[in-house]
Amino acid sequence: MAYQSTNPYNGQIVKSFDDIDDAELLIKLTAAQACFDQVWRHKGFAERKAVLSRAAALMRERTQEFAQLITLEMGKLIAQSEGEVKLSAAILDYYAEHAESFLAPEKLNTAKGDAVVESSPIGVLFGVEPWNYPYYQIVRFAAPNLMAGNVVMVKHASNVPQCALAFERLLEEAGAPAGAYTNLFITKDQVATVIDDDRIRAVALTGSEGAGAVVAQRAGKNLKKSTLELGGSDAFIVLEDADLDNAVKHAVSGRMGNSGQACTASKRFIVVEALADRFLEKFQTALQGFEAGDPMDRKTTLAPLSSAQALKTLLGQVDEAVSHGARIVMGGQRIEGQRGAFMQPTILTDIEADNPAYMQEFFGPVALFFRVPDEAAAVALANDSPFGLGGSVFTQDVERGKRVARQIDTGMVFINSAAVSMPDLPFGGVKNSGYGRELSGAGIQEFVNKKLIRVG
Ligand code: NAP
Repeated sequence: MAYQSTNPYNGQIVKSFDDIDDAELLIKLTAAQACFDQVWRHKGFAERKAVLSRAAALMRERTQEFAQLITLEMGKLIAQSEGEVKLSAAILDYYAEHAESFLAPEKLNTAKGDAVVESSPIGVLFGVEPWNYPYYQIVRFAAPNLMAGNVVMVKHASNVPQCALAFERLLEEAGAPAGAYTNLFITKDQVATVIDDDRIRAVALTGSEGAGAVVAQRAGKNLKKSTLELGGSDAFIVLEDADLDNAVKHAVSGRMGNSGQACTASKRFIVVEALADRFLEKFQTALQGFEAGDPMDRKTTLAPLSSAQALKTLLGQVDEAVSHGARIVMGGQRIEGQRGAFMQPTILTDIEADNPAYMQEFFGPVALFFRVPDEAAAVALANDSPFGLGGSVFTQDVERGKRVARQIDTGMVFINSAAVSMPDLPFGGVKNSGYGRELSGAGIQEFVNKKLIRVG
């Protein structure tokens, strides 16, 4: 069965779920369309807000219950799971509070006539979402769109089915009408069926480049808008005037948070020669302090990867990098003596441009370390990547940091910190990291009809 909770800490299969068949899928599509046509689009902002605010309150009340499901299904450290639940509740509240002003009619200053742009919902939306932040990823898509008056259907990743169901039940309990939010346990072929269905008006995917290309191509064939939030290999630039201890602190959290399984994790550490040796030494010392263990145990500092396959992929990338000339400074192996999918914190250096690793995303606790002569070389290396998601610049001269940030071809740059996500910060990338934005005022504008109404 495709949808299965497997505890990554011990490999035990906890629960399995059947895919739905095509007949059931059609019933759900019909229910979603009916909800949009007959109920949800006609609700005012206050009524939609009541549902989302209640969902946020319920999430906070039951933080433990929601968090434990994350840790059980994808292995995140329990404290980080709790953080994700709280952030998800904050996103629900944020859109409940601000959607009306984000979508307020905009009177235009036109040369002639009286013109206004109004925002209206477009219908049933389809989201395909990843496992690495099982609630946060679906909230980023669902909260703004439900507030905009759209209804949403979600195919979640196959390894987090209990989180998927918990979120669907949460909205139901918060008072969302049937069909406003629908979880779909469907196959990849059925993903295509859903995108082809006339009732689906647009598609959002967060995940890998491969899945993004398949889904966006299908949407394009059907003349439907899509947004893509894909992978990244974010540069973490340390300039010679950086506060070294702050840079190392963020290097550790940026690479090790969620066991390195974040699209905006710091992945390529680009350090100016003057600080390179000292940075590498302190970074290595800090990474040696991580202790593998049960992610439900608050004392554990290193969680397993999400699955045995994820570990196999990462180890394969490390081996390939080494066979092309990379040098292992530390780590590089699975952690023995653990049943779970644990990877040693790893640093690789000497990665030349012809090494496959140079262009790859490492989705786990593997840091690629580069030393460069100066700022210009750091920027050039940061931009020499197929990805364009985020990045960081460390310097005590904030104006210099902003100048460097402007030269980096990504959707987000953080000065003197690793990447952060907050409800009011736009999230998204350029190049192979995708297109479109989630969160902030920008996120709610992706799937609304900006309708011009002009009086002649
Ligand atoms: P993935 O394999 O692409 O899976 C993401 C979703 O797409 C899952 O629901 C998956 O379903 C589905 N999917 C995969 N292949 C598909 C296909 N051919 N047709 C239809 N659906 C398909 O990605 P992942 O490995 O789980 O997630 C890690 C990737 O996501 C990384 O590259 C990471 O950087 C990226 N990511 C990006 C962001 C962002 O906001 N930019 C956020 C988080 C993660 P199944 O589970 O059933 O395969």
